[in-house]
Amino acid sequence: MTSAGRFAPSPSGELHVGNLRTAILAWLFARSTGRKFLLRMEDLDRARSGAEAGQLRDLQAAGVTWDGGVVRQTARGPLYAGAISRLEAAGLTYECFCTRREIQEAPSAPHAPQGAYPGTCRNLDPAELEFKRSARPAAIRLRAEAAEYTVRDLLHGEFTGVVDDFVLRRNDGVTAYNLAVVVDDAEQGIDQVVRGDDLLPSTPRQAYLASLLSIPSPEYAHVPLVVNNDGARLAKRDGAVTLADLAAEGFPPDEVRDRLLESLGLPAGPLGNALAAFDPDALPREPWVWSGP
Ligand code: GLU
Repeated sequence: MTSAGRFAPSPSGELHVGNLRTAILAWLFARSTGRKFLLRMEDLDRARSGAEAGQLRDLQAAGVTWDGGVVRQTARGPLYAGAISRLEAAGLTYECFCTRREIQEAPSAPHAPQGAYPGTCRNLDPAELEFKRSARPAAIRLRAEAAEYTVRDLLHGEFTGVVDDFVLRRNDGVTAYNLAVVVDDAEQGIDQVVRGDDLLPSTPRQAYLASLLSIPSPEYAHVPLVVNNDGARLAKRDGAVTLADLAAEGFPPDEVRDRLLESLGLPAGPLGNALAAFDPDALPREPWVWSGP
């Protein structure tokens, strides 16, 4: 299978300058290493009608091209179910009936890392299991045998983070992001994952899960986010931050692209120019402040 990079947005709204900056970086990392570049819509949750079409239009207008068709997670249920069955067969899952509130209120297990699932449902006896099953549908959790895991990242070096009994399938039947992303990247031949560094803390969980499924971990590069003047993630109240709003204000996608390339220390113009000059080691490591067009 050919190696590939990817951009995997959630079609929950319009693309904003931060998403486009990440997409451009993912494209540059993939193309500069001779990889294909794939586009996957992570539409299991929070999909909004019309959002996908708008995102694809904005990416194309900024010159971010991809190979093949767009893959949608909602069409891939059987793949996720297959992976969960393999984990189940290996004794690596259990049913969990906890509500969010119960998890928050449960005393954390001794030595458990902060934020880790406290293990309430890990060892239910058959009678408890039967009782709980009659009350509400179960989520499926991973029976993790590690409390932390280390990944290598091109920009962050070695990163060690928490692994806990995270959810693989929610109790409404929807596959959890951490399972879907691992299965999809492997199945699509993706061996390079470039995405926002807000996802770095989830990466040890994903890499650990990949190891349980005998999937080699991809190469990771977690890139800095775009923030507002207060250092917070961009939001609606920061004014025109989506490509659509900026276009409406007379600032078309190719000009936004040029601003973003400039912020990365790369030449403006079609992405081919930036590709010729791209050097991952020279990338800024700090969040970039967007203070308007
Ligand atoms: N769908 C996720 C997001 O838009 C990205 C997931 C990933 O790149 O692994 O935040």
